[in-house]
Amino acid sequence: MELQIKTLTPLWTGGVETGRMDRLHETGIIGSLRWWYEAILRGLGAYVCDPTSDTPEYRCQFDTDAYQKALREGQDKSEAMQAGLQNVCPVCRLFGCTGWKRRFNLSIEASPNLLTPFWLATLDKQQKSNHWWLSQVFKTDNNKVYLDDSLTLQARFIRGYEHYEEVLKALLSLMANYGAIGSRTQYGFGQFAYPDAYSPAKSMGILRQQAITLIKTKKHASNFYSLQDFWCLQCQIPSDDERIKEFHQKAYVIGDKGTFEQYKNRCLPVSFDIRYKLPRHRDYGMRQAYRLAEGKRNAQQFFGTVQDKDRWGSRVFVSHLYKRNDKDRDYQLRVWGFTKPELMTNIEESLRNIFPSSLPPEKSTGPDLLCRKE
Ligand SMILES: [Zn+2]
Repeated sequence: MELQIKTLTPLWTGGVETGRMDRLHETGIIGSLRWWYEAILRGLGAYVCDPTSDTPEYRCQFDTDAYQKALREGQDKSEAMQAGLQNVCPVCRLFGCTGWKRRFNLSIEASPNLLTPFWLATLDKQQKSNHWWLSQVFKTDNNKVYLDDSLTLQARFIRGYEHYEEVLKALLSLMANYGAIGSRTQYGFGQFAYPDAYSPAKSMGILRQQAITLIKTKKHASNFYSLQDFWCLQCQIPSDDERIKEFHQKAYVIGDKGTFEQYKNRCLPVSFDIRYKLPRHRDYGMRQAYRLAEGKRNAQQFFGTVQDKDRWGSRVFVSHLYKRNDKDRDYQLRVWGFTKPELMTNIEESLRNIFPSSLPPEKSTGPDLLCRKE
């Protein structure tokens, strides 16, 4: 099955070395698909394990003993398989766990010469806070990102599991509408369009079918990301907004300056300034505004700490400024989170301060998505 997407902000998939991407790595794409599947199925009430947990009982495992026993007792292979899967959560059934391989193989079809040199921008000059921090996290030499119009993901399913095609399409549709793909999406990477996307209602319908689970005895930890706590703001900002002009004229580039110039009318990679603290403005920037109002500890809880190198260490995600089409006059900005709903209101206000001419954002919430029916 081919999934054709269009990247709108640079795609980052991580690499062998932290902070440097040498080529597109499938694992970064699969990781994000899995992550959204977990959050959505949890929101739908299914038990979903924690594959990163240190506690073995929180991770799924295919029960080889039960499988063998079923075979010995004369059951056929598919019945025995069901016995082995009895304690495997719906996410692992597709994405794999110990003893059970992922039900599909994913390959990225993109020419390596389409990678562009890495770049980000900030209003802070070299050595100053945002600039300094981004230079610590990302390597600027020999580092690449992907930003080309189209990208093809080729998914091949193990025979007998082709019905999961629909699930991947549904996941990708929701990610295109409300999230992003790949790694480091909290820093603006991975906005994309999916022209063949299903409607949100259809996508939710398909995923609801997968949420039926037999595992009812296990409890999941409350701090997990769940669609129940999800919200998303899609903002439209005219290109003559004073902040957009400031980014155009006064931003400092981390990485390749030529790439900045080449793409600045299509993508301004300034997510970090918006998310943390807008340089030269004492109380602007989401985290900064929230911190001044609610205190440091609360700000850390939602925005992570700067020490936080964990991929998913944050509960608030901010895209770069991007255009859906080259000819568009306005930029788009997507901000989404997994928090208490009040935070969305705080952030909306914060965005109005940063971008004085922005139009009222389009709002979506997880609880609303969860009750969408076709
Ligand atoms: Zn699992």
